[in-house]
Amino acid sequence: TWNEVPAAPLDPILGVNQKFQADTSAEKVNVSIGAYRTDEGKPMVLSCVKKAEALLLEQSDLNKEYLPQRGDATYVQLCQKMLFGEKSKLLASGVVATAQTLSGTGALRLGAEFMKKFAKGKTVYISNPTWGTHNSIMTQAGVPFSHYRYWNAAGRDLDLAGMLEDIEAAPEGSVIMLHAAAHNPTGVDPTAEQWGEIMTVCKAKKHVCWFDSAYQGFATGDLDIDATAMRAFADEGLPLFVSQSFAKNFGLYGERVGTFSITCDTPEAVKAVMSQLDIIIRNLYSNPPKHGANIVKTVLSDPALYQEWRDELKAMSLRIQDMRTALYDELTSLGTPGSWTHITSQIGMFSFTGLSPEQCTQMVEKHHVYMLNNGRVSMAGVTSKNVKYIAKAIDDVVRN
Ligand code: PMP
Repeated sequence: TWNEVPAAPLDPILGVNQKFQADTSAEKVNVSIGAYRTDEGKPMVLSCVKKAEALLLEQSDLNKEYLPQRGDATYVQLCQKMLFGEKSKLLASGVVATAQTLSGTGALRLGAEFMKKFAKGKTVYISNPTWGTHNSIMTQAGVPFSHYRYWNAAGRDLDLAGMLEDIEAAPEGSVIMLHAAAHNPTGVDPTAEQWGEIMTVCKAKKHVCWFDSAYQGFATGDLDIDATAMRAFADEGLPLFVSQSFAKNFGLYGERVGTFSITCDTPEAVKAVMSQLDIIIRNLYSNPPKHGANIVKTVLSDPALYQEWRDELKAMSLRIQDMRTALYDELTSLGTPGSWTHITSQIGMFSFTGLSPEQCTQMVEKHHVYMLNNGRVSMAGVTSKNVKYIAKAIDDVVRN
């Protein structure tokens, strides 16, 4: 039975990780996956998370009962504040519908399922390039999608004119997927002024803007600054979807903690939308897991832990910035042909190196440096120990 089922290709990101695991070379380096590593190359559990877990263990009234489909109400409120800000007009008027989700991916899928039921025929416009799963989630969910130009390869910067033109050309009321901060994979975000221009076009075309927030705090090291663009759109009254992930900024990758929000016109609409999200969730996975949400809830509601988290988040983003400088310095001292200033000017977890697919294959096959074929290197996997080796590998594939 099932002999006719063809083997699926490896996932473009997780597949590279699988190949890395199977590689027996002592020199191998994994910079494929967007997961933070310490300078010793080890995964890290934040200290605020460990403290929150210790506090949770002491709580005698904690049980393992089911959460409602939409998740934990207190957790959801705290997440809304983190996204929209303490002074949000939308939150004050009770017009944001938010459900707890299985991290960012679950939030994206929930949004896609909502679109399939209530935005039939609308197309989602996604940046080119993007995190590949944006596209495949839409395919799997059966939601039509298309792309808008984003990356200007020649200048290694934003193709603002192309982006605006494509968003303008999309049918009125389309859904425009935007990376809230620290664009994956390019590491290039619009400036405040450019965000203003994007907002003007989206508003004129009555588009729904879908902010995917997987890196709040990783672009600048500050949670509020990284939410500025999205909050400006919210204040301007544009209709929004927001998917939120705590995988990277809390280091809660495997705990699957996130939210999905929809802004509405009235609190009555919020009630109806939430009731529909409940039905979708009930039939996807019934209800979300509790542990990760309890950790986030504990940290966000305790001023000392909250401050500790912000400090740890800043430290993670600073280490990544240090590694950008270190890699740039190594390439410069090797005299590697080409300009490498984009390594230090790009932000967030990734560097979009500009290496060609052939050079990327060489990086993996000849040098055991596991990176994505589109040239993306996770700077969070670069350490003081491996940076020299990575630079030498880049130098070799560029020269040969
Ligand atoms: N959106 C973007 C842009 C991402 O880069 C990621 C993580 N790589 C996610 C969403 C979601 O990840 P997770 O499901 O682990 O929260």
